[in-house]
Amino acid sequence: MSDLHPSHVTRPSDASSFDEVCTKCGATDIAGGGWGKLAEPCSAAEPQRLPTLYDEHHREIKVGDIVKVFHFVGARRKRHFMYKQVIEHRKSSTSDTVYMKFSHLTLKPDEAYYLMHCDDSLLRGYEIVQGLEANWEDRPKLKVAL
Ligand SMILES: [Zn+2]
Repeated sequence: MSDLHPSHVTRPSDASSFDEVCTKCGATDIAGGGWGKLAEPCSAAEPQRLPTLYDEHHREIKVGDIVKVFHFVGARRKRHFMYKQVIEHRKSSTSDTVYMKFSHLTLKPDEAYYLMHCDDSLLRGYEIVQGLEANWEDRPKLKVAL
């Protein structure tokens, strides 16, 4: 039999049809019949923070950001860069892996995107150059491990 899901906050009840009720979502168990809806995740629980990625200035990378990515050093030591846009940040539908999806900004319908695994690490050679919000440069610079 399934257990009470830890995302609920329950209190005992003296109602006849259930013994425990969630104070957040109102779901109840079934008196004498198991945890019922309380075995499933609470619908009123705070969404869990997803692991993310940080640019080389320790700013959190967010959906919509344009990032300047170091590409290679060419002739006469010219440094070449590419520009990408973050278009998705979510958990995989088939595993617990969280990823960011980067567009190459080609506007082609069959564009090959690339995915970066999000593990709260800092990306060397990545720099946010524009965010969706006007004050994106005010995002806090966080101490993060490489
Ligand atoms: Zn609940």
